[in-house]
Amino acid sequence: MKMKGRIHSFQSLGTVDGPGVRSVVFMQGCPLRCICCHNPDTWDVNGGELVDTDSLAKKVLRLSHYYGELGGLTVSGGEPLLQAAFVTELFKKVKEHGVHTVLDTSGCLWNDDVEQLLDVTDMVLLDYKYASAQDYKQYVGCDIEKVDFFLEQLQKRNIRTWIRRVIIPGYSDGKEDTIALGKLKDTYSCVEKVELLPFRKLCVEKYEALGISFPLEDVSEPTEEQMKELNILI
Ligand code: SF4
Repeated sequence: MKMKGRIHSFQSLGTVDGPGVRSVVFMQGCPLRCICCHNPDTWDVNGGELVDTDSLAKKVLRLSHYYGELGGLTVSGGEPLLQAAFVTELFKKVKEHGVHTVLDTSGCLWNDDVEQLLDVTDMVLLDYKYASAQDYKQYVGCDIEKVDFFLEQLQKRNIRTWIRRVIIPGYSDGKEDTIALGKLKDTYSCVEKVELLPFRKLCVEKYEALGISFPLEDVSEPTEEQMKELNILI
């Protein structure tokens, strides 16, 4: 089956979105509004480029000799769960050729299409953005329970998972919160790794181009020292 969907961009040979060397498809559209979002140009569900699963799968397969044992395809966003049926079709097409599939998501949506997507997902990168329900509401616009539910579904299906959190000084850099994040490895056997990513302000120009203000304009990036101190805790 050939399906159409909206993508923001295609990156060949990425190395930071899952294991090994990967093609990365950034989907267009996101229902959330994270204050630290570095891709506000992916928000608009009517933006991006309309593509079909056949041609996108071909593009991914053309590069398959680079993926090796570990690599493959990662679908990120935006929020890929918004177009879960499209991603399912794409994953099916590349998996037929033995390509490993990774889903990079906020875990904030759940429906039948998402459930079917997990059937063809080898691994998930789950953003666990904040420690409390209050912060999730205020800084993401989503209930933390949705993320916890999503993680439980990954556990139930035994889908290999890496948990990630962007460290924003003053917002998501609490020591106790970081320790609790690291403990998710003990609670959920599907969680193989917890990664802390430093908040970066490279996105400021994108916000300017869109004519919207970046809520964290005055926040500093974490220092290497601070990242080291937090990394010891997980
Ligand atoms: S889920 Fe991702 S794309 Fe959506 S607002 Fe948050 S950081 Fe941005």
